[in-house]
Amino acid sequence: MDHFLYRDGALHAEDVPVAEIAAAVGTPFYLYSAATLTRHFRLFDEALEGVDHLVCYAMKAASNQAILTLLAGLGAGMDVVSGGEYARAKAAGVPGERIVFSGVGKTREEIATALAGGLRQFNVESEPELAEIDAVARQMGVIAPVTLRVNPDVDAKTHAKIATGKSENKFGIPIARARAVYAHAASLQGVKVVGIDVHIGSQLTDLAPFRAAYRKVAELTGQLRADGHEISRLDLGGGLGIPYERSNSAPPLPVEYGAMIREELGHLGAQIEIEPGRLIAGNAGIMVTQVIYVKEGEGRDFLIVDAAMNDLIRPAMYDAYHDIVPVIEPAPGAESRPYDIVGPVCETGDTFARARAMPPVGPGDLLAFRSAGAYGAVMASEYNARPMIPEVMVQGDQFAVIRRRPTFDEMIKRDTIPPWIGGNPAA
Ligand SMILES: *Cc1c(COP(=O)(O)O)cnc(C)c1O
Repeated sequence: MDHFLYRDGALHAEDVPVAEIAAAVGTPFYLYSAATLTRHFRLFDEALEGVDHLVCYAMKAASNQAILTLLAGLGAGMDVVSGGEYARAKAAGVPGERIVFSGVGKTREEIATALAGGLRQFNVESEPELAEIDAVARQMGVIAPVTLRVNPDVDAKTHAKIATGKSENKFGIPIARARAVYAHAASLQGVKVVGIDVHIGSQLTDLAPFRAAYRKVAELTGQLRADGHEISRLDLGGGLGIPYERSNSAPPLPVEYGAMIREELGHLGAQIEIEPGRLIAGNAGIMVTQVIYVKEGEGRDFLIVDAAMNDLIRPAMYDAYHDIVPVIEPAPGAESRPYDIVGPVCETGDTFARARAMPPVGPGDLLAFRSAGAYGAVMASEYNARPMIPEVMVQGDQFAVIRRRPTFDEMIKRDTIPPWIGGNPAA
């Protein structure tokens, strides 16, 4: 459930008409609902009630400081995958002991930064990375808490670009090698093994692959404990999917996911960490755009909107589906027609939807892309010198711009012209 609903014929974000925000901010923009973010975080937290646990929001899904600060205030931990995300988490007031550091290519600098600033654990993805963390920690005279991310060779049955748990994927240590790598890790002075980590992919719409992976984790926990390792923490990753296409999909709910975790792992007495990203932010955000032109083509009509693939890349990158609805509620019984909904960028990939049935819309009308809160703003770019899309948050009857649109001048001034082609070195 989210808080973007029609009220008196107009789409609202909580208690604010979306059109009012569009008039104040200009289109396109992302719009988040604080109540929805809060609700989704709590659903996960409550799903694991009674179990020692920490919900670490996978902040790569949406990492505006306002979102992070809101979630940090609710007690969220953070799953970070870069030095930049680590810095953002700390700036949002998240204590080091609530930050887990994931990612397949942590650099020496990132490792040192996190060790200096404090962290809960590194989720280690490979043997060379384990060696690097050990070396950096010894050099700094500290001990790095680590889990090893195992690759359980489970098919997450999701889009190929976001499946991470098969042996052919670049992620983690093959589960068959896990015991040998744990034995090696135990011999290192700079690291302390605290548990096991697994993350099999994103936008999973079925619990079965999670269950299969967690069963393997339970079995491995028994083996590693028998080998003498202290496995006190199980990091189960993120990946629970959301209903992008409301009419025909109903992925499992956090409460069902939590029940399954208890069934498979509850008896192990380990602390549970989960890293949801998409389910917390996805349906807590929409992207609002304006129709520029309606172009009637040969056998195909186009709605040309002022948002483009650089603002929301998911359709181009993952063939993703987003519900697209008019901000003014269509009259009951209004007849729909198929349109291709496209942006202004000179690439055929700049297509948000093909032959999408839409109620009557014309130039100047506002459209909302639903489920755009996760992997939306964070993946935006300034391709075509289109300014980075602004972000807005609502709470109740208030709204605030949480990242403003840069001016053209600001964009231009970020570049430097070398003196040898006429630039002013003092500028
Ligand atoms: C991307 C990612 C997540 C979050 O996945 P969602 O599908 O957004 O829940 C969690 N953990 C790791 C290691 C990831 O790479």
